Amino acid sequence: MHEMALAESILTTLQEQARRQHYTRVRTVWLEIGPLASVEEQSLRFSFDVVVKGTLADGARLEIETSPAQAWCLQCCKSVAVARRFDACPECGGHQLQMTSGDELRIKELEVD
Ligand SMILES: [Zn+2]
Repeated sequence: MHEMALAESILTTLQEQARRQHYTRVRTVWLEIGPLASVEEQSLRFSFDVVVKGTLADGARLEIETSPAQAWCLQCCKSVAVARRFDACPECGGHQLQMTSGDELRIKELEVD
């Protein structure tokens, strides 16, 4: 369960941004999560609601998008998109893939007042 820590770091980012961009209220947060980040969406939502109570993001909506992961296929010698770790290469069906991205979590967009 690292979702609580993630929710806290999201809130920290929101507060830093608020200081820099002079907004006082966060309405919606669009998050992009890689499929390898092992984030449980429901518990992230729950943790977020708990963490933002009484802050500038109290009651903010969380929009979660999952982005595909990138892997390097040793057989095709190119970068391919995969949905999950240990998936086969979509081009050649091979399993000699090295994951190159997909464990990131980032705030893509904010709706603020
Ligand atoms: Zn391949």
